Amino acid sequence: MSHKIPIETSARHVHLTKEDFEKLYGEGAELTFEKPLSQPGQFLAKERVTVTGPGGSFENMAVLGPFRKESQVEVSMTDCRTLGVESFIRQSGHTKGTPGCTLTGPKGSVELDHGVIVAKRHIHMTPSDAIRLNVKDNDEVFILTKSYGRGVIFADVVVRVDRNFKLAMHVDTDEANAFASDEETFGVIIRLFEDSSFNIDEWIDDVLDGINR
Ligand SMILES: [Zn+2]
Repeated sequence: MSHKIPIETSARHVHLTKEDFEKLYGEGAELTFEKPLSQPGQFLAKERVTVTGPGGSFENMAVLGPFRKESQVEVSMTDCRTLGVESFIRQSGHTKGTPGCTLTGPKGSVELDHGVIVAKRHIHMTPSDAIRLNVKDNDEVFILTKSYGRGVIFADVVVRVDRNFKLAMHVDTDEANAFASDEETFGVIIRLFEDSSFNIDEWIDDVLDGINR
């Protein structure tokens, strides 16, 4: 089996609760399926919303289904500057303490007091992928990207294991633009340490102190 990890780019998008969606699109409104996403069960909806922060806004932001337990806005670091909000790198669903924004739809608007995140880069995989790639849920790995003359090693890539996932690394538009990918966009896990108990900040301190492992 291949050790290639396909890399997919997530453009900015929102996940909504049913309640928030009804405030934006009217009571009883449902998401309309437009096309499937790579992760089984996830889809792009036809509906769009405007996301507004203190510094600016994005119109026609994509809405992904199905509904979630909590509304969440996923943007890049560059998008945070446009919105005028501080950037918080978080795993999906970990929105405590993050900035809010205003969502606007054709039938109304919603004030989120938190929920704007820059998604932490991650790899979705099944339990059998995890065995084959010798990693486990919540491990953080290094990914070397295939590129034409502009390869990047991404650190802090969190592994997410679930039997319903399909193998893919997700990066945002800033991260995707940081390396120039070939037609087939993929990376490989590289091992820079013997075990997974390394700490990147300690590693940097070691190098600054002249210790090279
Ligand atoms: Zn993902």
